[in-house]
Amino acid sequence: MTWEVRSRNGIWLPQIEWHLDAHHPARRSVISHAHFDHVAKHIEAICTPETAELLAARGAKTGNALRPLPFNEPFNITPAATLTLVPAGHVLGSAQALIEHPDYGRLLYTGDFKTRSSLTVEPCATPEADVLILETTFARPHYVFPSATETMAKSIAFCRDTLAADEIPVLLGYSLGRSQEILAHLANAELPIMLHPRVEAVTRVYQKLGCKFPAYTSLAPMMAAGHVIIAPQQSLKSELFTLIEPRRTAVLTGWAMDPSSRFRHATDAAFPLSDHADYPELLEFIERVNPSRIYTVHGFATEFAATLRSMGREAWALGRTNQLELGL
Ligand SMILES: [Zn+2]
Repeated sequence: MTWEVRSRNGIWLPQIEWHLDAHHPARRSVISHAHFDHVAKHIEAICTPETAELLAARGAKTGNALRPLPFNEPFNITPAATLTLVPAGHVLGSAQALIEHPDYGRLLYTGDFKTRSSLTVEPCATPEADVLILETTFARPHYVFPSATETMAKSIAFCRDTLAADEIPVLLGYSLGRSQEILAHLANAELPIMLHPRVEAVTRVYQKLGCKFPAYTSLAPMMAAGHVIIAPQQSLKSELFTLIEPRRTAVLTGWAMDPSSRFRHATDAAFPLSDHADYPELLEFIERVNPSRIYTVHGFATEFAATLRSMGREAWALGRTNQLELGL
């Protein structure tokens, strides 16, 4: 007997009647981290205390039944099955779900994850498991990310050049996770920093939970000259930014590995910085977890499952049509 895994309102484990990252309200679901595409108002939900704190600060509607479960503390989610949340390395508090059952074995769901080290996030764990549900957002061979130090050196040079030209540098990243990583990397750059309100709200939670950052002030458009601004990508179109001129913008994202990225994001520059695993990380992670079956989710799930099968692994893209190689 082994784990049954289905694609239904996120991921559904019928044998124990639990969801993993259900998108819509469910009876019982694990919430892997505080990005909104992984959150809904469930009757019963489990996440890390850090995720609970971030969800509250971001005004997420999660209901009252959020049960905080610290990392590495096994908890019985059914009489027979235990859930242990282990760090996923994606954003602060992000968890992988390790579920153990005496009849079905060990199942590991990565959620969004990365194994590269980070200044603001707990290091990713790699427990062994029989069944692995793997996030495959960047599962194509050309996604090999440079180190964050290298990317941030380029971003800092961009900021200095912009300031030298009497313009305002704006670094764009998700308000939860990427922005805090950018801010932490500016620690020794000695640049005056302003944070967009949504970035600042999350940063304050990170600080409360023990993260250290360089000094910053709240974004004041009339006072922005001479500062580096860190803001969410979507905020560029907001009223606030009509007052921040002249400016130069740079987006920090894994998609910057694609040559068209700067145009797709309509920014002056694009630098590769990601909270997700790149292609070599995915392959190495699989080696270490050493599962007998893999389900891929998100991004290039179908293509990557086929690649894994060609390497002799049993792998399926969850909820998609898997074109089988019949060797004809
Ligand atoms: Zn995420």
